[in-house]
Amino acid sequence: MRPPRLHGLFLVALTAPVLLACPVIVARAQEKVVPSDATAIPMPPPVPPARPAKLGAPAAPDLVATPLPPERPTDLARPVDAAKPSEAAKPSEATKPAEATGPGASGKPTETGETPVPPPRPPELAGTALAITVTPVDDSACRRRLERLGARFEPLPPISNGQCGAAKPLKVTALADDLALAPPVTLVCEAAEALARWATEAQVTAQRDLGQPLKGLSIGTSYECRGQNHDPDAKLSEHSFANGVDVMGFDFAGRPGISVAPAPEGSPEAAFLAAVRTRACDFFRTVLGPGTDPAHANHLHLDERARNAGHRLCQ
Ligand SMILES: [Zn+2]
Repeated sequence: MRPPRLHGLFLVALTAPVLLACPVIVARAQEKVVPSDATAIPMPPPVPPARPAKLGAPAAPDLVATPLPPERPTDLARPVDAAKPSEAAKPSEATKPAEATGPGASGKPTETGETPVPPPRPPELAGTALAITVTPVDDSACRRRLERLGARFEPLPPISNGQCGAAKPLKVTALADDLALAPPVTLVCEAAEALARWATEAQVTAQRDLGQPLKGLSIGTSYECRGQNHDPDAKLSEHSFANGVDVMGFDFAGRPGISVAPAPEGSPEAAFLAAVRTRACDFFRTVLGPGTDPAHANHLHLDERARNAGHRLCQ
């Protein structure tokens, strides 16, 4: 029987501290649990109230900060608006002075805009382009040949008249055997050489067929800035480049002159005119005369217009 009592006492002794400690553990456990639950619960409520209070004030700055971007657009809007009116105003102002003033007037371009300034350049470039196409001519060899042909000539200043002109024109007063040119012609050397060579052949023909030496050529036009057939809308004539000459007639010492015109068929004059006209095609690239068209009924038009593949126009 004692042993059970002892067991009982022993159990009590053992369980007592456990029982005493249990509340502590439970309490501690409860403290750990309760506070966590307690904090989790109160946290949500306090946070919202705090936010609205603070956000209330910052809300305005935030709203202000958001509108700030809109302020940028307003800045951007000003330049854009300023550019639009300026562009709208520029075209009318820029185009007018550009066309009117041309290369000069550097002040207006800077005020109105730099883009509209280029338009003045084309006229300058066009002028230089024409100058470039005319300047690279080297006619020194041609001039030496012209001298050997017995021509009398002198150089003239360059001719520049819009689209017309010649870099190295010559004033030719006479050809071989004192063959006078009345009036003297203004031609570039290539055309003058062709005229000199053709005149030599015409001299031979005159002495052979007419028995009279040729003393002069009656000249209509050499250099003249104009369209073909005096038509201002037509292509520029070779006369515009001192590259063509109109021969109106032939003068002799011992007989009447022969004008370029239809002559009685079978007459010496008709034979002479036909022979020299045909011979001209050996020296000039273009030969027009009576029968070609009404514009050439009274003269021989002779020029050195270059054509593709060396084609010539002899009519
Ligand atoms: Zn002509």
